[in-house]
Amino acid sequence: MTSTRFSALRKIPKVTDCIAALSGFGYLKNVPPKRIKYCIRLYLNQMRRALLAGQHVELPEKNYSHWFHQLAAFVQKYHQPNLSRIINATGVILHTNLGRALLPDSSLSVVNQMGGNYSNLELDLETGKRGSRYAHVQELLCELTGAEAALVVNNNAAAVLLALETLGSGKEVVVSRGQLVEIGGSFRIPDIMARSGARLVEVGTTNCTHLQDYKNAITDDTAVLLRVHCSNYKIIGFTNEVANSDLVQLAKAYNIVVMEDLGSGCFVDLSKYGLAKEPTVQETVAAGIDVVTFSGDKLLGGPQAGILVGKKVHIDQLKRNPLNRALRIDKLTLAALESVLRLYLDESQALKAIPTLAMIAAPESAIHDRAQQVCQQCRETMDDHCIVELVNTFSQVGGGAMPGQHLASWAVAVRPLKIKASRLERQLRHAPVPVIGRMEDDRLLLDMRTVSENEQDLLIHSLYSALTMQPDAYNHPQPSL
Ligand SMILES: *Cc1c(COP(=O)(O)O)cnc(C)c1O
Repeated sequence: MTSTRFSALRKIPKVTDCIAALSGFGYLKNVPPKRIKYCIRLYLNQMRRALLAGQHVELPEKNYSHWFHQLAAFVQKYHQPNLSRIINATGVILHTNLGRALLPDSSLSVVNQMGGNYSNLELDLETGKRGSRYAHVQELLCELTGAEAALVVNNNAAAVLLALETLGSGKEVVVSRGQLVEIGGSFRIPDIMARSGARLVEVGTTNCTHLQDYKNAITDDTAVLLRVHCSNYKIIGFTNEVANSDLVQLAKAYNIVVMEDLGSGCFVDLSKYGLAKEPTVQETVAAGIDVVTFSGDKLLGGPQAGILVGKKVHIDQLKRNPLNRALRIDKLTLAALESVLRLYLDESQALKAIPTLAMIAAPESAIHDRAQQVCQQCRETMDDHCIVELVNTFSQVGGGAMPGQHLASWAVAVRPLKIKASRLERQLRHAPVPVIGRMEDDRLLLDMRTVSENEQDLLIHSLYSALTMQPDAYNHPQPSL
């Protein structure tokens, strides 16, 4: 170590001195003293590491008050809760990174009730005896989908694992090559299959699989024919997949199970809203598929959950599997799910009240009007900082639903005058309520389809603060833990 580095190290203040200096910062009064001390240590360690690595480090000797101001800002930022709301201006309605589906208002109040009170989660109020947590949604799911039985677990990946482990462990499961899906975030059909103990038998080719391929693959060890929805990709051109009805017939003849992972299961036929026809859960059940799995927080528009519907004999088998206990759904999710399912009892109500469906069905003209309003307000308040335009764009459903499908939409395009667009994008992530948009040619697009009317003022406020933010307002040293 050179002597200059060594002497610089000695100029790093003591923790006790920092504590004393920070006691003067009123905005830290709600931060527990223990936490302040912890943050100071992190900050000083980071500084020490940087010095030892020969990096330039600002020390308090030069500008004492500025240095402690920065330390205080770091402590304040560190003490903010990590999970926070954001405004989704990407136009992707179901964005896994942004939390997928928004819950309807009725679900929010139910979650509140169930979280703060005791409940009949596993108590049968008729008999006073132990009840089943699944009973609360089972009948609704059967009523809505036409299935004989239903079960819910933590998420759809868990649903697929549970079904494969129960029905296919130690046996063979036949899947078309064109359906060996990978969903972002490490869900891969072949890996889940391996974990379930089932042996994967691939049939057909990438683009074409025929009924005969399935038939030729069936042996005495075959337990399941598995179909997987091509959630996030499309095979176009010369293609063939086998129809559900044909697979069901084949499975019947050999007395094996047909299972379908629908991914983003939907109860409403969305072709009415300009989207391509996708099979609904009801149609899949009606085609005779034995076990159907789908997510709660994709097109259904509910909380994260994995839903299984199908024939009673198989669903009962899944319920008895000890793995089911490990994958079980929690009470807040269950409460939210029940309230969302209840909305589907009246489709027109569901379309209005379930944000995911309302965003898909939103008329382009309504999005245009809101985008125009935001543009106007931005022009009035931040004319010096940016050029704002109303532009045509396309939104996406996302969440592994309807790849390649675009919904015509309107965006507010912001071209900042004093900073680069990329910096605006970064600063918006540090705004009071962070805003996530889309960069397109040197400007930031804010697609108004996924921004609700009551978020508009917040959006404008965040935009203003991002455009006028001091660079070091968000650029505190990040301690590497
Ligand atoms: C999204 C998806 C899954 C995973 O569902 P999660 O609810 O995220 O666990 C599994 N299979 C398919 C086909 C999907 O689209």
